[in-house]
Amino acid sequence: MSFVAGVIRRLDETVVNRIAAGEVIQRPANAIKEMIENCLDAKSTSIQVVVKEGGLKLIQIQDNGTGIRKEDLDIVCERFTTSKLQSFEDLASISTYGFRGEALASISHVAHVTITTKTADGKCAYRASYSDGKLKAPPKPCAGNQGTQITVEDLFYNIATRRKALKNPSEEYGKILEVVGRYSIHNSGISFSVKKQGETVADVRTLPSASTVDNIRSIFGNAVSRELIEIGCEDKTLAFRMNGYISNANYSVKKCIFLLFINHRLVESTSLRKAIETVYAAYLPKNTHPFLYLSLEISPQNVDVNVHPTKHEVHFLHEESILERVQQHIESKLLGSNSSRMYFTQTLLPGLAGPSGEMVKSTSLTSSSTSGSGDKVYAHQMVRTDSREQKLDAFLQPLSKPLSSQPQAIVPEDKTDISSGRARQQDEEMLELPAPAEVAAKNQSPEGDTTKGTSEMSEKRGPTSSPGNPRKRHREDSDVDMVEDDSRKDMTAACTPRRRIINLTSVLSLQEEINERGHEILREMLHNHSFVGCVNPQWALAQHQTKLYLLNTTKLSEELFYQILIYDFANFGVLRLSEPAPLFDLAMLALDSPESGWTEEDGPKEGLAEYIVEFLKKKAEMLADYFSLEIDESEVPGSIPNSWKWTVEHIVYKALRSHILPPKHFTEDGNILQLANLPDLYKVFERC
Ligand code: ADP
Ligand code: MG
Repeated sequence: MSFVAGVIRRLDETVVNRIAAGEVIQRPANAIKEMIENCLDAKSTSIQVVVKEGGLKLIQIQDNGTGIRKEDLDIVCERFTTSKLQSFEDLASISTYGFRGEALASISHVAHVTITTKTADGKCAYRASYSDGKLKAPPKPCAGNQGTQITVEDLFYNIATRRKALKNPSEEYGKILEVVGRYSIHNSGISFSVKKQGETVADVRTLPSASTVDNIRSIFGNAVSRELIEIGCEDKTLAFRMNGYISNANYSVKKCIFLLFINHRLVESTSLRKAIETVYAAYLPKNTHPFLYLSLEISPQNVDVNVHPTKHEVHFLHEESILERVQQHIESKLLGSNSSRMYFTQTLLPGLAGPSGEMVKSTSLTSSSTSGSGDKVYAHQMVRTDSREQKLDAFLQPLSKPLSSQPQAIVPEDKTDISSGRARQQDEEMLELPAPAEVAAKNQSPEGDTTKGTSEMSEKRGPTSSPGNPRKRHREDSDVDMVEDDSRKDMTAACTPRRRIINLTSVLSLQEEINERGHEILREMLHNHSFVGCVNPQWALAQHQTKLYLLNTTKLSEELFYQILIYDFANFGVLRLSEPAPLFDLAMLALDSPESGWTEEDGPKEGLAEYIVEFLKKKAEMLADYFSLEIDESEVPGSIPNSWKWTVEHIVYKALRSHILPPKHFTEDGNILQLANLPDLYKVFERC
């Protein structure tokens, strides 16, 4: 038997180069990553990618960086040509991405490459085409802006096996979006875009002014961007620094999203991912994972920078110790991010803010398991909502003292004089005012008396019921009566049979303005809320469906009274205060507030306050007509202590149910905050 030895032949050089290049550039996304790094090295602030057939037919990258000098165009696509490295020693301190001078050369061995480029001091742009690392013809002058455009056509046209392996353009496009999306998050301040050729809408688009979180939102969506914790730590002895954003315990996904940059290069590290996931295991539901964006800067001496372009997996010196340090930091951040701290920094009300109206398609690279703002409430998400039985107060004071009797318990019966009796009844009636929309309709309805003038002042006065009126005691019996008695719904109409029609343009336009800025979803929420309890005089808790909200009572009542004032202009009942409001003190208070714009030049506040009192007295008749404000010299009766908590719950929040059209800005300014959503709580408790 004999073996016939195969003949060993030297491979053709272009074939060798092609094989090597195919190793470096394995798919369109690799090529794009290398080219984006070149754009970043060239200090670009705008990087635009256009592709056709998932990058297999065409990749075009345009930047506004330094450009390439004409004399360098000859050799730019040859192997081992780079403007970034001169000696081997430089490798240790390299701070640019590229250093091997291998990317463009590799691409030119497996595709048709055309470069159009102009430097700042070049007279014009030049265009050059390459094949197998060589310039095809001398660069041609042409028109163009500063920067570089690289076109890569027919990738792998000369490697049939690779072309066959990459036959799904949409999968390749997905990889491209992933790479560019990640670089755009890591490079906020630089605008990126990716689109398919011929499309007008970009699939990834970030703006130069956008923050890192903005970019995470635009790439990965709202659900994750609102649950992020910023992280950052440094260790001099281990010579590393880390920063980034990670999701908190409210957020989880089926597959871990890990954006890892080491020395600004997108890489992978299984050991780092595993180390971090162990920390999260204590916080997230089983089989779910976090979102992580980490940027690690490690002393160049300690990382193997000379990694092969396709070897994304990196290792570094002191790896164990660095992992431990990262774990500690993340653990402390997750612990520290307990709900309240975060919620107070929340300004946008989740789910209630309007659509952003951006032209960018959501790439939704991931779908979060955090349930969105879907309306459907499933049985397991139901919460007890009997507002009378389980309010916060029930936990804070002896149950032997029924809540509904509170205010009366501290108002001695004999002190209920005429004025307080009336006042109480009146404010009850005020609560029954029709909602702004109803009034608006009524003002226009034909049944309204359109012949009204100011002479009817006397007719719109509130009722003059005697203090002995049994209705006065309704509240003492129960508050169910108040909540459920629909027969008195439009009490103003009942008490002031002839409502005055207001045709003052100023008032009507203010009404319109209230309607325009109204937020329907918020109105629905307030309408159906269950009052949970007062946190303090300014803040209260309310529940709606599965969500718990923290509401700014001060701001909401400010808006409520403003709307009542506008909608019931010149139609109020008289609300006689048991203790007349001290005009002088009020004027002083007003002057003390910065909004008054008072300055020294205006003279002493006391003098001004006196003037205001006199002025108001002079206008008493008009004030009485429009606002039912009576100004007199009546004596001060003994003040009646009242529970502010009771007032907040039964007066303010009851009125909010039907008498306010909450303005949109409440969803954005932190005056209404969502504290918790039951499905999220379920996830936390699932582990217990
Ligand atoms: P490396 O980045 O390792 O130097 P490349 O093959 O990626 O190698 O690029 C070769 C050279 O081409 C770079 O060193 C740089 O001088 C030049 N170059 C490539 N792309 C750009 C660009 N977008 N803007 C300016 N110069 C570029
Ligand atoms: Mg490079």
